[in-house]
Amino acid sequence: MDLMRAISRPLCRGISTMLLPQRPGNRALDHAITTFNHVRLDRVDLLGELDGAGDKRRSFLSQIHRVSVGGLALSLVNIPATKAGAYLCYTFSKGRTVINPKTAKPTSILAFPTQYGPIISAVAHAIVMESAARFFIGIYQKKGVPEMLRQALVCIFKATITYSTQRHLSDLTDRCGWRGLFAHNKIAEMQLGLKGNSIAEGDVMVLCIRLASELLQGKYTLPPSSTRTSPLARHEQGLMATLGTHLNPNSSSDAPSHRSSLFAQNVTPRAVDLVQAIGHRFAYDSAQDSSISREFVDVWEADCMLHAAGWYIEHAGFTNAELHSRRVAAIERALPYLEGVIRDWGMEKWFGDIPLTSRAAEEEFLRRLPTFERRELRNEIGSML
Ligand SMILES: Cc1cc2nc3c(=O)[nH]c(=O)nc-3n(C[C@H](O)[C@H](O)[C@H](O)COP(=O)(O)OP(=O)(O)OC[C@H]3O[C@@H](n4cnc5c(N)ncnc54)[C@H](O)[C@@H]3O)c2cc1C
Repeated sequence: MDLMRAISRPLCRGISTMLLPQRPGNRALDHAITTFNHVRLDRVDLLGELDGAGDKRRSFLSQIHRVSVGGLALSLVNIPATKAGAYLCYTFSKGRTVINPKTAKPTSILAFPTQYGPIISAVAHAIVMESAARFFIGIYQKKGVPEMLRQALVCIFKATITYSTQRHLSDLTDRCGWRGLFAHNKIAEMQLGLKGNSIAEGDVMVLCIRLASELLQGKYTLPPSSTRTSPLARHEQGLMATLGTHLNPNSSSDAPSHRSSLFAQNVTPRAVDLVQAIGHRFAYDSAQDSSISREFVDVWEADCMLHAAGWYIEHAGFTNAELHSRRVAAIERALPYLEGVIRDWGMEKWFGDIPLTSRAAEEEFLRRLPTFERRELRNEIGSML
């Protein structure tokens, strides 16, 4: 949007807007702070009734219910961004070579587990999140689903996809060396851009605090897991039980309350973990469909478990070594399919000319950069050759 052009027309009386400086990682949109001073609206412009709201909080949440559609839509962008990041890092890694000390010949860095591992994890994340998105959208669109449940599902999807995409894109950036840091190579830029989506339509952590509190108080229940004994479903049940104890303190002087300091200290900092655990079980259930590659679902499951290793070691009988070897085995099983999955995504249509993807594209990009050199020195060297 060209905000400067938009605001060159006179604004209505009482409205002023302040153009903010550009946000790193975001080139598509301008942002502005707009204020309204005694601006009168017609009754038809209001989202709901002026009076008779009864439960004001509930009425407000219902009036802004379209926010959750935005939250869902903005979260979906994480999926193509992860696919693009995986494609870029994969293509770069395939072309980048180092000398193999054993053979003294150039070898592609894609051959290193430290390179293909994070790429496969990102691919697995994109595949499972795509399946989870279809599942959440399916429930969201069902007629008669209560608004509270819709908002809960959007929060779960947003929390599940937001933080892990950040982690994957950060890993992929790191695996591209200095090239990864630059906006023209896109991965770091996409990561920063997506940070905005995690805040827009409600900061994801604050949404998780509200949801965790409502669920632990039993204000409503979520659809049950179809794989109740899977490790991810057990993790969700375990966290619900552990965090729920902070609503029922042992001391008789402490009233059970989600507004107690005990709850704030012990539960709110773990609200995101709880909501993500719920999201992982939904996503895992959604990915049991036979059309989804089992190899990548296994990688994704192993990654989720490693991420919460402490819980699985303490409560589910796994050792640290077992959690790591599960992931290694899953990554090795998925490796033969990596190239085919990335090729089928067709990302080169949009990102094929990014400098990171080939030496030719990078040389072409570098050729157009301003270059400074000492002319006489160059002439001298030229005459020596
Ligand atoms: C890309 C983008 C587009 C946006 N577009 C629009 C738009 O079109 N229209 C519009 O009106 N707004 C828009 N916003 C604003 C957006 O709705 C707010 O940024 C968002 O709701 C969070 O509010 P805040 O930024 O004021 O953060 P704050 O409310 O100041 O929160 C900052 C931090 O404080 C802490 N915090 C806040 N509240 C709590 C709490 N209850 N419990 C515990 N911790 C808390 C959290 O750590 C939180 O991350 C946009 C924002 C972004 C990033």
